[in-house]
Amino acid sequence: MHELAVAESVLDNVAARTGDCRVTSVRLRIGRLSGVELESLRFCFGLVTDGTRLDGAELVIEEPGGRLHCHSCGRDVARDDPILLCPCGSADVSVVSGRELQLISVEVV
Ligand SMILES: [Zn+2]
Repeated sequence: MHELAVAESVLDNVAARTGDCRVTSVRLRIGRLSGVELESLRFCFGLVTDGTRLDGAELVIEEPGGRLHCHSCGRDVARDDPILLCPCGSADVSVVSGRELQLISVEVV
């Protein structure tokens, strides 16, 4: 239930920074290699925000693609799924980007 933990963390962070305002929209950046299931996250976000100042807030999610650096062949390759393999077959790779999990902005009324 990783997504539930993410949803709770978003709720806690937003609630702590928005005082008594009602939150209408939350924008997140979640890299495609983060392993977070967006559908599941949306569901969990709806659950945890029920009855809070974030109830009904729109969840806007940016999904930057992933990039790997391969230590076997030296290439940088784009990768959008969580199986971290270079096309050359090597698993000796570093994630350059795509694991972002950031709160970008919040709209309140
Ligand atoms: Zn490679």
